[in-house]
Amino acid sequence: MPNDFLGHLRNALSDIEGEGLYKRERLIAGAQGGRIELQSAGGNRQVINLCANNYLGLANHPEILAAAKAGLDTFGFGMASVRFICGAQTLHRELEQRIARYLNKDDAILFAACFDANGGIFEPLFGPEDAIISDSLNHASIIDGVRLSKARRYRFANGDMDELEDVLKLAEREGARFKIIVTDGVFSMDGYVANLAAICDLAGRYGALVMVDDCHATGHLGPQGRGTPALTGAGGRVDIVTGTFGKSLGGAMGGFVAAAQPIIDVLRQRSRPYLFSNSLAPAVAAGSLKAIDIAEAADDRRALLASHTVRFRNGLAEAGFELLPGETPIIPVMLHDARRAQDMARELDARGVYVAGFFYPVVPAGKARIRTQMSAALTDADVTLAIDAFKDAGRTLRLIQ
Ligand SMILES: *Cc1c(COP(=O)(O)O)cnc(C)c1O
Repeated sequence: MPNDFLGHLRNALSDIEGEGLYKRERLIAGAQGGRIELQSAGGNRQVINLCANNYLGLANHPEILAAAKAGLDTFGFGMASVRFICGAQTLHRELEQRIARYLNKDDAILFAACFDANGGIFEPLFGPEDAIISDSLNHASIIDGVRLSKARRYRFANGDMDELEDVLKLAEREGARFKIIVTDGVFSMDGYVANLAAICDLAGRYGALVMVDDCHATGHLGPQGRGTPALTGAGGRVDIVTGTFGKSLGGAMGGFVAAAQPIIDVLRQRSRPYLFSNSLAPAVAAGSLKAIDIAEAADDRRALLASHTVRFRNGLAEAGFELLPGETPIIPVMLHDARRAQDMARELDARGVYVAGFFYPVVPAGKARIRTQMSAALTDADVTLAIDAFKDAGRTLRLIQ
């Protein structure tokens, strides 16, 4: 190794530290839930967890654990192969058909993660003659996936339907063969829901396909948790849905694309993260299957989640915190400055509330925040404690009166 290489990296790390942007990982000594055991110097301590994507509280659900254990017993620990070489297990096919049925699509295809689904979807489906039109706040995996394709790239400002229309016209003028509009269903940093009705109207008018990455919605938003297409009434006009088993649907891991049959069939032939990566672990596939069954029927959990969301949002707004508006369980508390967000996270931690400060490059510079997320795993008392901790911490830092 050239002897200046590690020194070069150390300099980069101290720059990150100097800008207040260094991310430190905390250690959890147990299962995910509304309350978790944090490892800390003086021994483990319990905190209220406001930063998991465990919206329905299924991450440690006993029936999902039992299904995963049964999957382990029947199908073993791992497949040790990619599917086109050694085949899939019946369990994998069952999960594909189940998620497709849940989302009302012909079929689905599994990936190791939604990051891979988004990374592997564009290159096989779209060529240099085609146009991919992407919302400016789309998830990093979409940005990377678009970069890996040879299609022409267009962007519109987050949720700006006028600009989307301009871009559709531009792509048409520039002779695009096929056009696809790509958006997150819920923008994870802000909690905004995409305007799918307007997007689908424009898509219809300009002959474009629509793809929605519904990672932060599948399982908990919309009727039966069928996500933003169901929530917004756009439904069948959304052509492609990508999503994850790593959030609401049990929180383990695994991604998917659900769409019309020829789309799925081409991905199975050509999508690189599918072709050249191992199958989902059987226990994960079996647990995720159970998670879909539970999520579909979980109106009680969705109601609790909605009630926590309203109460927490109102509690913080009344206390004088600046929130981004919205209705999803993602409630960003805006602090703008990276260091202030970290100070606030530390003060909340001292009060037994576990949050994460988000700052550049995860969100734009000057838009640092604490992104809180509600969960059906939280009790009413947990939510009350969390509101009180925010007020107390906010006063200590003189952010509110
Ligand atoms: C979490 C997330 C992903 C990545 O999902 P994984 O399955 O964890 O890789 C992709 N897109 C969006 C919008 C996400 O929120």
